[in-house]
Amino acid sequence: MELHERPLARVKKIALIAHDNKKRELVEWARVNRDILIQHKLYATGTTGRLLEQELALDITKLQSGPYGGDQQIGAKIVEGEIDFLIFFWDPLSPLPHDPDVKALLRIAVVWNIPIANDRASADFMITSPLMSAEYQRLLPPT
Ligand code: PGA
Repeated sequence: MELHERPLARVKKIALIAHDNKKRELVEWARVNRDILIQHKLYATGTTGRLLEQELALDITKLQSGPYGGDQQIGAKIVEGEIDFLIFFWDPLSPLPHDPDVKALLRIAVVWNIPIANDRASADFMITSPLMSAEYQRLLPPT
């Protein structure tokens, strides 16, 4: 199968999502990394976005709340190339009504080969990568 390249620009289009039990952790992570985050274009699901706006004064495009379709909106934006980087602190210890949406989002993020961090350690490694401030040639299968 022949792969083709789809660049991730220097300025990343980053989606931030945290389930309720993980929101505090995401806000604290974003506080530590605020100077880097503001160099990129930010999106979030509704409640996560409101929290980040209120606590860190981040300029962020807010979508619907996750259980009301926000995860699906982010998935659609990945397909359309409007989002190319995902920080998603999902909760591995609680059942959620929108679990199928979460699974669908994670699947589509892998289909489109975008960077995904699902916990704080991964997010730390990703955000400190030299690739954060460089263009990256992402490889995709033919569509
Ligand atoms: P929220 O959605 O940011 O609106 O809480 C996140 C989610 O539950 O997927």
